[in-house]
Amino acid sequence: MKADNTELKARRQWRPATEMVHGGTQRSAFGETSEALFLTQGFVYDNAEAAEARFKGEDEGFIYSRYANPTVDMFEKRMCLLEGAEDARATASGMAAVAASIACQANAGDHIVAARALFGSCRWVIETLMPRYGVECTLVDGRDIEAWKAAVRPSTKVFFLESPTNPTLELCDIAAIADLAHENGAKLIVDNVFATPLWQKPLDLGADIVVYSTTKHIDGQGRCLGGIVLSDKEWIDENLHDYFRHTGPGMSPFNAWVMLKGLETLALRVGQQTQTAEKIADYLAEAPGIARVLYPGRDDHPQADLARRQMANGSTLVAVELEGGKAGAFAFENGLELIRISNNLGDAKSLVTHPATTTHKNLSAEAREVLGISDGLVRLSVGLEDADDLIEDIGRALAKTAR
Ligand SMILES: *Cc1c(COP(=O)(O)O)cnc(C)c1O
Repeated sequence: MKADNTELKARRQWRPATEMVHGGTQRSAFGETSEALFLTQGFVYDNAEAAEARFKGEDEGFIYSRYANPTVDMFEKRMCLLEGAEDARATASGMAAVAASIACQANAGDHIVAARALFGSCRWVIETLMPRYGVECTLVDGRDIEAWKAAVRPSTKVFFLESPTNPTLELCDIAAIADLAHENGAKLIVDNVFATPLWQKPLDLGADIVVYSTTKHIDGQGRCLGGIVLSDKEWIDENLHDYFRHTGPGMSPFNAWVMLKGLETLALRVGQQTQTAEKIADYLAEAPGIARVLYPGRDDHPQADLARRQMANGSTLVAVELEGGKAGAFAFENGLELIRISNNLGDAKSLVTHPATTTHKNLSAEAREVLGISDGLVRLSVGLEDADDLIEDIGRALAKTAR
């Protein structure tokens, strides 16, 4: 059983930074200051009647941690406050959240329209897994609203997009795509990982469902995997509730506890990381050996107007294309000392990725070209180090690359 969120909505709304420290807290009988970690599979009942009442739903309380757990519940409530959502379910990973958000509502014969620039595993779920169950899909250029329109069929049930996209930081017009989805009786799911819950509010823009990999900025310190699906209570009750209980993708209480502590510092971390990313993007735009810099907070971003309209700030990620293709990109990566090579993002530690040979290696060369993932492209995930140390590290790597 999950506690009802109406109680949360009725109480005073603190400003977001305050909610991220206190929101959703449910103290145990011991009155602990920090959120308690309820590392338990199950719960006991005072008598047989109490067990019966709880299973009937007459008594609010927990039954089994596959359904709900007090620590996970605190994390879900705090995320609802941040996102402006009525309800949520936290999952073991970002991919568990994405897969659940699609599979819980799609039936054989339904159709999905998705932006083609997606995190690799999201694309696999939509393009490869769902068709096995009779759910067809059409992938479109997410920037082109006419392409979304042309892809709609009477059977279209779900729209799915990510904005900014991985790794080229292209944007999709969430409000326009949400309107189109609703005109056609479909639901829009937005994977909001790259924007973070601070800089983009998909539900306010008209999306129906928001998903996160909390592995990224919400943990933010490289420790635990996690994910979450947020929406209105009616959609969750009718679609996700039973799917979630009976297929078991839930987040572990330990990971939920780590994520709760991550939320306490999310605004500080992402604010600082975004400021540093902006400085790095500006530095790279003037640096030698660079073919192109893509950063949603810069005026030279191809969709700068849309970025200003739907995002409150830039991003903690910067995409940059080195001259000299793969050799140039590899020389740059190998020349870095402070920024480490990894495929992850949103960490306190700055990381660099070469998508063409790692995260996007499974796409054909043509598919990569369509998405703008050239051999010279690298993605920088900016961490919490001193901006000047990062810029000096990049400068030294570029100087070595030029030689
Ligand atoms: C990382 C990521 C995912 C998957 O999350 P996991 O926690 O690794 O399962 C999905 N979408 C985007 C945009 C991501 O960056």
